[in-house]
Amino acid sequence: MTLKKNNPLRLDVSHVARQSPGTYRTFDLHFPSLHFEPDLDLHDLEGEITISVTDDGVAAEGQLSAKTELECTRCLEPYQQTLDIHFTEIFSFSPSQDEEDDHKEQQLPPDGYIDLEPLIREYALLDIPIKHLCSEGCKGLCSVCGANLNHEDCGHRQEDIDPRMAKLKQLLDEEEMEELGRE
Ligand SMILES: [Zn+2]
Ligand SMILES: [Zn+2]
Repeated sequence: MTLKKNNPLRLDVSHVARQSPGTYRTFDLHFPSLHFEPDLDLHDLEGEITISVTDDGVAAEGQLSAKTELECTRCLEPYQQTLDIHFTEIFSFSPSQDEEDDHKEQQLPPDGYIDLEPLIREYALLDIPIKHLCSEGCKGLCSVCGANLNHEDCGHRQEDIDPRMAKLKQLLDEEEMEELGRE
């Protein structure tokens, strides 16, 4: 599903926006799969959007979760990363007059439709961890043969060896073997 045509994340809040301040309405979202231009795919996007009426606009509060496919930096396997998408965004009836205001409020569109797409995209991206790990205990790849150590034990010893030291280690190992041979 693409959001280009008939954007399903455009939320009609025109009705609730006409109610008195304090009124709120909750919208349930569930999308098996959505593509966000240009490069984000979310699966099992679900949760609630609560729209509450304030004195001069509406607040949109999102409590959503979704999954996205990432590649584990240790074992290089694709995996599904769960993302928490939480936000509160204010849409005012009339734009703020204060040019100096750091927190720019958005204006509620005249047709009463809030586009959740940029919000969900932004907050989903914020929740993507810097380190992509399929699991905390991912064992990664064997530094000798490249086997995925989560799936098999290839028998190699995993050591962080500086390539420049590898030669020296090899010599020491040979010496050790010789010594063992002499005993
Ligand atoms: Zn992994
Ligand atoms: Zn190995």
